[in-house]
Amino acid sequence: MLNFCPTAVMGPRLLASSLRSSIWFKCPVRAYSKGKFVSSKNKKNKMQTLKPLNFVIPNYTSVNNLANMLNIKLDKLVKDLKDLGFTNARTDFILSKDYIQLILQEYNYDVPSSSGSSTNSGNVYNALKVSLNPRNLAERPPVVTIMGHVDHGKTTILDYLRNSSLVDKESGGITQHIGAFQVVTPVSKRKITFLDTPGHAAFLKMRQRGANITDIIVLVISVEDSIMPQTIEAIKHVKKSGNELIVAITKIDKLSSQKKKDEAITRVTNDLLSHEIEVESIGGSVQVVSVSGKTGENMDLLEECIIALSDSMDLKAEYGRSTMIEGWILESEVQKALGNVATVLIRKGELQKGNILICGNTYCKVRAILDEHRNPIQNACPAQAVKVSGWKELPSAGDEVIQVSTEATAKKFVTKRLNLVKLEKEATTVEKLNNERTQTKELAEKNNYDDKERGEVDSPECKGPTKVNFILKADVSGSVEAIRESIGHLGNEEVVCNIVDSSVGMPTESDLRLARVSNSIILCFSLGNLPNDVLNNKEKVEVRQFDVIYKLIESVTETLIENMMPIYDCKQIATAEVREIFNFCLKQKSIRIAGCKVTNGKISRNSLVKVLRGAEDEVIFDGKLATLRQGKESPAEVTKGKECGITFENNFEGYEPGDKIIAYEKIKVQRYL
Ligand code: GDP
Repeated sequence: MLNFCPTAVMGPRLLASSLRSSIWFKCPVRAYSKGKFVSSKNKKNKMQTLKPLNFVIPNYTSVNNLANMLNIKLDKLVKDLKDLGFTNARTDFILSKDYIQLILQEYNYDVPSSSGSSTNSGNVYNALKVSLNPRNLAERPPVVTIMGHVDHGKTTILDYLRNSSLVDKESGGITQHIGAFQVVTPVSKRKITFLDTPGHAAFLKMRQRGANITDIIVLVISVEDSIMPQTIEAIKHVKKSGNELIVAITKIDKLSSQKKKDEAITRVTNDLLSHEIEVESIGGSVQVVSVSGKTGENMDLLEECIIALSDSMDLKAEYGRSTMIEGWILESEVQKALGNVATVLIRKGELQKGNILICGNTYCKVRAILDEHRNPIQNACPAQAVKVSGWKELPSAGDEVIQVSTEATAKKFVTKRLNLVKLEKEATTVEKLNNERTQTKELAEKNNYDDKERGEVDSPECKGPTKVNFILKADVSGSVEAIRESIGHLGNEEVVCNIVDSSVGMPTESDLRLARVSNSIILCFSLGNLPNDVLNNKEKVEVRQFDVIYKLIESVTETLIENMMPIYDCKQIATAEVREIFNFCLKQKSIRIAGCKVTNGKISRNSLVKVLRGAEDEVIFDGKLATLRQGKESPAEVTKGKECGITFENNFEGYEPGDKIIAYEKIKVQRYL
């Protein structure tokens, strides 16, 4: 009997996500026996020694294949899988490596522990992170984000702070640019790093990962409007993120008298209170500064408030060249003179030229470091945002940056991550495919059931269109997109083109594997001569190559047509009449033979025939002849005017004198999409 894990009742999909987390593997597998859970550890003690594994565990395989590999009956494996919680287990269900390992363990195989396949690509760089060294800790500048309702003056404040004229350059007066810059406060001469508004994808991505790169949020509220919808959104964000808050009441210059200013500030304070923000003037902890981004009134006070708050937060980071750099990508772009450039906010360490950084699927040997004024600088320290050039590919905003010691290490880790990303993609595709197959099967079963209830025959049209799977590989991403556009919509209610995966470059081993498990044809476009190990691959996957896009479309169209239900036309080739019935007794069995006369054409031994009755030509039989005789002879064919004795397959003997026999040929009708 198979072990039973509580997790198994979740079914493969949930189980898959559980399996991906290493925690799951720590969960003791328990056997359910006579109403009690028994630890598999105890069970294993009683078991015979583990069976050696004489094959390499594939990343994916179908239940069918696994049964062959384990040399067990398919029915048994399917049943065992169902017992294990794979409620959807079917012969064509594709199992991932995690599942296969679990099943092998259940069958008492010696599964190597190193063959675990956690496919969490995000964690691959965690191994590189160095633990904190308290000796390198030193005070760092606060990182501040300005938030607030549109038009309340965020850009004007940032503009004043960095002493540039961003507002004038902006389209529609709405903050478009995302960036970061440092200011030195006028009085205390301390540094503050300002980030632009956080609606940008980079910030969302960082937040999704639980990274809170901002220390302090300055909530900008126009004295004219007080709290508006986006102000409320910002307040919600502050509460959720746990950031410290300072309120800047702006456009204070618009109110002429001190009395009006005081009244307006009181109104904003009360509005804030109604959103549970308790400001200092009423005994709370949130500092409020009334400023004018336009005139600069109280801007120095705002900066000093930020410094005072950051001092109370005791913000520190690890400095020094011996500290391995970590940071975040704020934005990235291709610049004419510099190539791939990314803004990196340094979290720890001291960035210098020549450092090797890895990030997402790419890495960088730092060629140039530029400050926010685009001036080249020699190094950058924690809480500083700088432009860094030298990236092999553009990193994505919101991704984490980590330093490694050599380019070789960077290449190794990036390759590892790329492989994991690919594996994750495969896993998603396989999961999608399994779900689709399950849905199709459920639908088919439901339709079958409904039809039976209605007393109708099962109709294949009820099962939805057949998906014909393709994997697309092309020379450049433009081609990939163009081909996807051209073939993605091909199909009709019976058959559709399903692009399982598409990417640039030669088909890789993992493409071939994916093609095998997903039963896909690989379409290669403009890739030149394909290597032999791709064309005659060991996965036995069909690989087609094209240089002309319409040929590729034609080929896909033909394949789709081949997968449509064949339709046949009937062409009449002969007619005969049943004249008399002869009863014979053969081996104590009575046989009825139809004595016929061929009235037209030739009836042959292999003819398909219909037996028709009455004026309305009711079809009482449709099938093949069993015997065709003339006296004692069994001729291959009987021609017009001749008599013959006929019997029909499936022991059909329901003919009577006067019935008509039609011999016909089935002709396949050309189908179109
Ligand atoms: P944002 O959308 O929050 O970035 O708002 P902007 O900084 O673009 O400002 C919107 C409008 O308000 C612009 O026309 C600014 O000139 C104006 N404005 C912003 N701050 C002040 C201020 O302190 N005083 C005055 N008089 N106008 C301001």
